[in-house]
Amino acid sequence: MKKAIITGINGQDGAYLAQFLLNIGYEVTGFTRKNTASFKGLNYLQIKDKVKIVECNLLNIEQVSKLLGAIEPDEIYNLSAQSSVSKSYQEPIDTFEFNTLSVFNIIESIKKTNPSIKLYQASSSEMFGSVKKLPITEESIIHPVSPYAISKVAAHYTCVNYRESYGMFISCGILFNHESYLRNDTFFIKKVIRESLEISLGKREILKVGNIDIKRDFGFAPKYVEAMYLMLQQEKPCDFLICSGKSVSLREIIYYIFEKLKISKSLCIIDPAFYRPSDIEDIYGINEKAKKELNWNYDFNFFEVLDLLLEEEVKNYKNK
Ligand code: NAP
Repeated sequence: MKKAIITGINGQDGAYLAQFLLNIGYEVTGFTRKNTASFKGLNYLQIKDKVKIVECNLLNIEQVSKLLGAIEPDEIYNLSAQSSVSKSYQEPIDTFEFNTLSVFNIIESIKKTNPSIKLYQASSSEMFGSVKKLPITEESIIHPVSPYAISKVAAHYTCVNYRESYGMFISCGILFNHESYLRNDTFFIKKVIRESLEISLGKREILKVGNIDIKRDFGFAPKYVEAMYLMLQQEKPCDFLICSGKSVSLREIIYYIFEKLKISKSLCIIDPAFYRPSDIEDIYGINEKAKKELNWNYDFNFFEVLDLLLEEEVKNYKNK
């Protein structure tokens, strides 16, 4: 039986990846910074008792090395990160410190304990930032425009460097935004769905948002985690873009949800307080390399995903 460690097990991707790996027969250990975390995702997917939860401070290299030695994993999926772009403007140093040092500690621990452990690193489309040419490909120019993106670039090139210098099996998935019912409430899609539903139920008056004319390439998280696994099954480590291939404006998304819930557009209020100091106007990528080399299949358009997310939100809201 193959053994995997997933860091950030308490997050959206951690839960869906754990579910996927358990389904194909893996033994899964999930790292969390606090054993008292909510494990909302694992509980929701009813797999909490199937995952071995271990408390680990990824900033403590001795602890990381000791745990790798004891668990002896075949694969590590490093999903742990301060993952919010907005929060990274408020906490730039903490974001950079955690998102980069944790990666160094994991890689150095692998190198010390067992260099044949395969590592997946969660890189981000935010690394491309100031986009000069669309669509984004694996070869596009990196130009981060937020503290979060800067931390992800540093972590990404740490991985590339160890792969090239020491021949370690480290693959980075450069994922574009992906959503699910388990997304944290502070992220845009989840916030729009949740708050619009509350408006339609008479529990909230308006939806306050920032710049909704920006466009993003959004996808469905449960399908994106499959690509993470596929990357570690290749003969050689490599980096891949994981995206839908199309961008949609935040305005289109809000109006789509509003129409579904029969809400007037006038209840969407633009509040400059939600504007970011810098932002990406439009971004979308090409997923051909992942489809061809990983045999990853992805055919959703994002409005189909929105239908699924709204349906799940309504069902769970009613059952609360
Ligand atoms: P998430 O829901 O925010 O989960 C990230 C997990 O990282 C958290 O549950 C938390 O785990 C841990 N974490 C966060 N800040 C930490 C800190 N300061 N110290 C220690 N642990 C911390 O993120 P996700 O959506 O699952 O994304 C997974 C990974 O993919 C992240 O690295 C993210 O940056 C990257 N990514 C996500 C997207 C996306 O659209 N979702 C796109 C591109 C890349 P504990 O609660 O156990 O501490």
